[in-house]
Amino acid sequence: MLPFSLERANSIEAAIAVAASGGRFIAGGTTLVDLMRDEVERPARLIDINSLPLEGIRVEGQELVIGALARMSEVAANADVRRHHPLIAESLIEGASPQIRNLASMGGNLLQRARCPYFRMLDAPCNKRTPNSGCSALHGLNAGSAILGTSDYCVATHPSDVAVALVALEATMRVRGPKSERTFPVEQLFRLPNDTPHLEHTILPSELIMDIRVPIGPRGQNARYLKVRDRASYEFALVSAAVALTQENGLLKHVRIAVGGVGTKPWRLQSCEAALIGKKLDRESIEQAAQLSLRGTRPLEHNHYKVDLLPRTIVRALEMAGGLS
Ligand SMILES: Cc1cc2nc3c(=O)[nH]c(=O)nc-3n(C[C@H](O)[C@H](O)[C@H](O)COP(=O)(O)OP(=O)(O)OC[C@H]3O[C@@H](n4cnc5c(N)ncnc54)[C@H](O)[C@@H]3O)c2cc1C
Repeated sequence: MLPFSLERANSIEAAIAVAASGGRFIAGGTTLVDLMRDEVERPARLIDINSLPLEGIRVEGQELVIGALARMSEVAANADVRRHHPLIAESLIEGASPQIRNLASMGGNLLQRARCPYFRMLDAPCNKRTPNSGCSALHGLNAGSAILGTSDYCVATHPSDVAVALVALEATMRVRGPKSERTFPVEQLFRLPNDTPHLEHTILPSELIMDIRVPIGPRGQNARYLKVRDRASYEFALVSAAVALTQENGLLKHVRIAVGGVGTKPWRLQSCEAALIGKKLDRESIEQAAQLSLRGTRPLEHNHYKVDLLPRTIVRALEMAGGLS
């Protein structure tokens, strides 16, 4: 591990000022410290943001507001989260381990970096770690790689579970920078790799995530997260699906579907959603819609199984959310 300095921020403004001059925020450290140990990340100056007032979970009008420093375990156990958005709790409990969830913050979760093995292997080319060095996964071990949103520069999947749930729930996030504050959909936080896979997010290093805001409404009540993985806990998704829906007179009025483990970012499936609106939620309509998830997929040598697994996972998640099983 390379030498670095660590300072505690006393105010939001001070933290942002240090970040604007090259410092790096650290919250739970469960991603950043790992990457620093491996020398994949090499920040010289860390700003500990844990004493900033970015904690807490509350209901504000028709929004559930989750502070950026709220811990994964705290959010998963919170009564308001469970009442209004059980999907968020479900996706968090399916992630990492209890020890990590106790330390890991929501802001850090959204900004966690790729889990592609080559990203952490300093002697292997990786465009995400070292721009223009090449992508080892493209023709290497790519069983865990993405099939949607990939480029010839990068095929790494986006790893966060709760990000998939937040995209399905049309959550927004509030960030503050040196000059201003802005709020935008969580879905817009993530970039496609294209030819710059080292740039993963649309926020600047000097922008601090303040909170995450999730609209409260009936669709939060019929929402489920299904995560398929190699083992039952402490494992990232091979494929996951977050579904939120409402029905009226036996027909689908509203449906949102996002998937994880298959895309280079949390992947919203608008074509599947459009195919389901106004339909009766039965096996036939679900299976037809789920097949549309395969449009634009680009499987690699070892991850063809995701082409079978993706529509099946969506079918099952829709059945669960719609109370069909
Ligand atoms: C073994 C292991 C298994 C895991 N399994 C899963 C899993 O199955 N599913 C899953 O979703 N996740 C999983 N994770 C990832 C885990 O959820 C993240 O490591 C954690 O959420 C990151 O939060 P943190 O507070 O520790 O972030 P940190 O490590 O402190 O920070 C991560 C990044 O976010 C930035 N940052 C932190 N807070 C802010 C803020 N408020 N504003 C701006 N930037 C900020 C930091 O600068 C850094 O770049 C796993 C992690 C480990 C180590």
